[in-house]
Amino acid sequence: MADGFALFTDRSVVAMRVNGELKDLATTVTDDDVVEPVTIDSPDGLSILRHSAAHVLAQAVQTINPEAKLGIGPPVTDGFYYDFDVAEPFTPESLKALDKEMARIIRSGQRFMRRVVTEVEARAELANEPYKLELIGLKGRAGHGEGSGDDHESVEVGAGELTIYDNVDPKTGETVWKDLCRGPHLPNTRMIGNGWALMRLAAAYWRGSEKNPQLQRIYGTAWTTKDELRAYQHRLEEAAKRDHRKLGRELDLFSFPDEIGSGLSVWHPRGGVVRMEMEQHARRRHVAGGYTYVYTPHISKEDLFLQSNHLVTYKEGMFPPIRMDEERDAEGNVTKQGQDYYLKPMNCPMHILIYKERGRSYRDLPMRLAENGTVYRNELSGALHGLTRVRGFTQDDSHLFVTPDQLEEETTKVMDFVISMLRDFGLEDFELELSMRDDQSDKWIGSEEFWDYSTNALRNVARASGLKLTEMPGEAAFYGPKIDLKTRDAIGRTWQLSTVQVDPNLPERFDLEFTDRDGQKKRPIMIHRALFGSIERFFAILLEHYAGAFPVWLAPVQVVGIPVADEYVPYLGAIIELLRGSGVRAELDTSDDRMQKKIRTHTTQKVPFQLIAGEQDRAGETVSFRFRDGTQENGVAIDEAVAHIRASIDERRQVTTRDDLFS
Ligand SMILES: [Zn+2]
Ligand SMILES: [Zn+2]
Repeated sequence: MADGFALFTDRSVVAMRVNGELKDLATTVTDDDVVEPVTIDSPDGLSILRHSAAHVLAQAVQTINPEAKLGIGPPVTDGFYYDFDVAEPFTPESLKALDKEMARIIRSGQRFMRRVVTEVEARAELANEPYKLELIGLKGRAGHGEGSGDDHESVEVGAGELTIYDNVDPKTGETVWKDLCRGPHLPNTRMIGNGWALMRLAAAYWRGSEKNPQLQRIYGTAWTTKDELRAYQHRLEEAAKRDHRKLGRELDLFSFPDEIGSGLSVWHPRGGVVRMEMEQHARRRHVAGGYTYVYTPHISKEDLFLQSNHLVTYKEGMFPPIRMDEERDAEGNVTKQGQDYYLKPMNCPMHILIYKERGRSYRDLPMRLAENGTVYRNELSGALHGLTRVRGFTQDDSHLFVTPDQLEEETTKVMDFVISMLRDFGLEDFELELSMRDDQSDKWIGSEEFWDYSTNALRNVARASGLKLTEMPGEAAFYGPKIDLKTRDAIGRTWQLSTVQVDPNLPERFDLEFTDRDGQKKRPIMIHRALFGSIERFFAILLEHYAGAFPVWLAPVQVVGIPVADEYVPYLGAIIELLRGSGVRAELDTSDDRMQKKIRTHTTQKVPFQLIAGEQDRAGETVSFRFRDGTQENGVAIDEAVAHIRASIDERRQVTTRDDLFS
C-alpha cells in the first residue's frame, strides 16, 4: 500500500493512471494495481492543470461574490472555463479583481482533498448550489441509461462515487472552499504556477439549452510555465493578424454582401485572380493525371437525392425544397402536381448518372470524373465563419469508378496526386488518418472480405507515402474506409484538407455495372476524392498560412512599377509593358502619391516585387527591386529582371526577400 507521492518523487508527476483511470496522487494503491505517472506537460496533465485552475477561478468568484452560483468548469482545448449564475454580468474590471484573487489562492498552496459523499450528504452540503443539485439528480438517472455520456457535465459527476473536493489551507488545516467534482486535481493550488491567464467573457445557457437560464462564462488558459503562456498568447495574436476575414477586407479579395445572404461569398477582382490561378493549375494537373472534367447543374428533382439517400441521412444539411411546375385552374384547384427540387449538397449522385448513362466495360475503368461543383448546405447562421464555414461553396470534387482489382493501384495514384498538388501550393507538413471499422459496432454493411481488402489497400497506400499515419478504428463511414489528410500551417495549426473515401454503397444503390473480361456484369467501386475540399476554404487556409503574402504565381498583383519622379514614367512604363507581354501581372503606379507613400501602400498590399526607376536606372537601362521585407537590389539589367520574375512565377516560388530571387 502506497500513494502516488511515495511512488513518484519526480516533481513533474501531478497525477496517475491507476488501472487506466486518472486519479489524484493522494490515492492509495496496492501492488496489484497497474500505476502509470501523469506528468504535468502530458495531455492528461495539462487537462488536470487547467481544470484545477478552473476550480481556483470558481473559488475566487465566490470569495468576491458569495451569492454567485456555480455551473460547470471543465478543461477545454488550451484552457478551461467556468459558468456562473450571477445577478450582474462580469466586466473586464471584474476579471482584473478575479485575477488578483486567483493569484492569492494559488500562492497560498491550498490542498485539493477528495472526500466521498452519499447523495444525501451531497444534497445537504450543496443546498445553496441549485445547478450542482441538478447534476446530482442527473447522476441518479445516469444509472438507468440516460447518462450524459462524456460531455462536459461528467466533469462534476461521473460514473461511480459522488465526491466533493475540499480546498484545505495548509497552515490552519481549515476547509476554505469546496466543489462537487469527480477530479482528479493537482495536489495543491501552488502547482498551478504562473502560466495562466483569464481570457474572455461569454454568455452560455445552462446545459447548452436555450430553455435554461443564461449563465456567465469566464474562459481562461493555463500552461506549465509563463513562457508557454506567452508563446500561446503570441500564437493567438498571430492567428488574429492572419485571420482571413480581416485579410480579405484589407487586400480586397472577397466579401459577403448582406443583400445576397449569410455564408454566400462574392470574389473581388484580386481574389478572383488568386482563385483562377488555383483552379487553372489544378485543372492542368487533373487533365495530365487522366481526369476528365464534367459539368452538372446546381439543382435536382428530389428523386435523385432519395435514391442517393441524402434526403434521408443528410436532409438537415440541405436547403429546403423549391416547389416547381405546379398548375392550377381559375378556381385555384391543382390540375397538375408540382415537383420538389433541391439545391445539391453533394455532386456524387450527378456524377453517378454520367457513369450510368450508357453501358460500361472494364476497358472504360478507371473512370475519373472531376468537377469544380458548387454545392449548398444549410449551415446554422451562428456556425458560419468567413470562407471556412459557408452556405454555398465549390468542391474540387472527383469520383473515380474502379474495378475491385484496381482499388489499391488507383488509391495510390490518388494519394500521390493529392500530396504533390498540395506541395505545389507550398504546403509541406502532412499527416494521415485512416478511418476503419471496428468490431464493437454492428453498423457496418458489406462483407468482412471487402473491409479487409479495402482497408488494407488504404493502409498500404498510406504507409507507402511515408507520412505519419494514425489508425482510427470505428471512425469509418458505415459502408467503407477512408483516408483524411491533414496539414499543418505556418503557425502550427492543423487543418483537415483532402479526403479519399472508398464507397461500394452508392454503386449498389444506383445499381452501377461494368462488363468484365469474362463477359460477366460486375459492380464497380467508387472513390470519392476532394483535394482542396472546398476551394473557398482552401483559399482561406492559404491566405492565413501566407498571412496574405502569396507565392509569386498566386499573388493578385506580381509587380508594381514606382517611378522616382514623373519624368521616369515612360521609361518604367515600357518595362511594365514588357513584363505584361510575358504574362506577368504588372501595374504602374502613376498616382499623385509621393514615392514613399506608394512603397508603403504596395508593401501593405504584399506585392512581391516593387520596381523602382530613377535617373541612374534610366541612364544604365536597368531597374531596381524592392522586396516585401524592405530589402533591395539595385541596377538590374532589364532582360535579367524580366527573366528572374518570370522564373519565380514558373517555379511557383515564394519571394519575400532579396536572397529569394538573387542568390
Ligand atoms: Zn474539479
Ligand atoms: Zn462524392
